[in-house]
Amino acid sequence: MFPNQVVDSFRGLKTPFYYYDLDVLKATLLEIKIHGIDRGYHIHYALKANYQLQVLEIAKEAGLGADCVSGGEIERALEAGFSSSQIAFAGVGKSDDEIMIALEKDIFCFNCESPQELEVIDALAGKTGKNARIALRLNPNVDADTHHYITTGLNENKFGINEEDLDAVLEKLSELSNLELIGIHFHIGSQIQKFTPFEELCVKANQLNDYIESKGFELSVINVGGGFGINYDHPNENSIPDFKGFFELFDKNIKLKSHQKLHFELGRSVIGQAGSLITKVLYTKEGRTKNFAIVDAGMTELIRPALYQALHRIDVLTSKLPEKTYDVVGPICESSDTFRKDIDIPEVRRGDIIAIRSCGAYGEVMKTQYNLRPKIASVFSDDLG
Ligand SMILES: *Cc1c(COP(=O)(O)O)cnc(C)c1O
Repeated sequence: MFPNQVVDSFRGLKTPFYYYDLDVLKATLLEIKIHGIDRGYHIHYALKANYQLQVLEIAKEAGLGADCVSGGEIERALEAGFSSSQIAFAGVGKSDDEIMIALEKDIFCFNCESPQELEVIDALAGKTGKNARIALRLNPNVDADTHHYITTGLNENKFGINEEDLDAVLEKLSELSNLELIGIHFHIGSQIQKFTPFEELCVKANQLNDYIESKGFELSVINVGGGFGINYDHPNENSIPDFKGFFELFDKNIKLKSHQKLHFELGRSVIGQAGSLITKVLYTKEGRTKNFAIVDAGMTELIRPALYQALHRIDVLTSKLPEKTYDVVGPICESSDTFRKDIDIPEVRRGDIIAIRSCGAYGEVMKTQYNLRPKIASVFSDDLG
């Protein structure tokens, strides 16, 4: 991923910056096409993982639709060239303004998360004289077996409609004349690395599909969301997740009726491995118990370690010295501003360049200006020439 010529061009750039290897992105999308799209599955790219226009345009070219969680993301998706008929809108707290944007643009589907939300969308749709296509986001109570901050499919989570409320919701739908129920939707969490939670999800989805159809509704959309994980430990050996296994699992376990299509919403697994945060060593500090490598990127550029205790692989691009044990830390005035603790990497000096790997998803999009940090650049492999 970092041949000499790429590292040489990094030397001339102001750090820190995000670097995107578009070849990795394209190779990933090709796997998604071969194993998913070519099976007739609809894959929506979850913009919230990374909404760089270049990324969106490549995803769109590869045949993906868009999954948005805000009005801003809907507008961005349209700007990138997705058609409104390819846009799904999810989120537990859609504001009236956002719903109006989605209605005006006549998007493909609202994924609805509560009985009250249905009433609000119905009322706003009535006001604008539009019909809103909706899918019910159902909480399948499946444990995604991932970090507790990124599970979303348990009853204790704020997301989705719980099973005990389903009958009341279906009944209410008959009164909401501006809504058209077209599907059911699930999203059980993120960075899911085992297949078992997805198998459990299929069992639940099949049951709920049968149940709702038995009540006289016709569901054309079965949307199983996203959440497929990436390998943060070995981004080189596993730069592309096992999409063959992933889609085959659904092929085997989900029971579609002839009028139904299977939909997915993938974020992290699409763009995660294509991005790195490139940073320079500012200082080294040798202590009696610890050596610190203080770099010029911090939690303001990549918050995942501080927020989710995420461990990103660290590659030193400019040192071949013997290894030494470091805490790699940022410059921000917070002790949680630590990328890795006690990690063995080649000895570094001031000015050495480091790549923090697997940062394409939920990296740049979560940057903040805490400490009035300067804005940082995004560099694409195509730009390096
Ligand atoms: C975040 C999100 C996704 C994407 O999740 P990944 O783990 O990045 O694949 C999909 N659907 C919904 C509703 C989401 O909130």
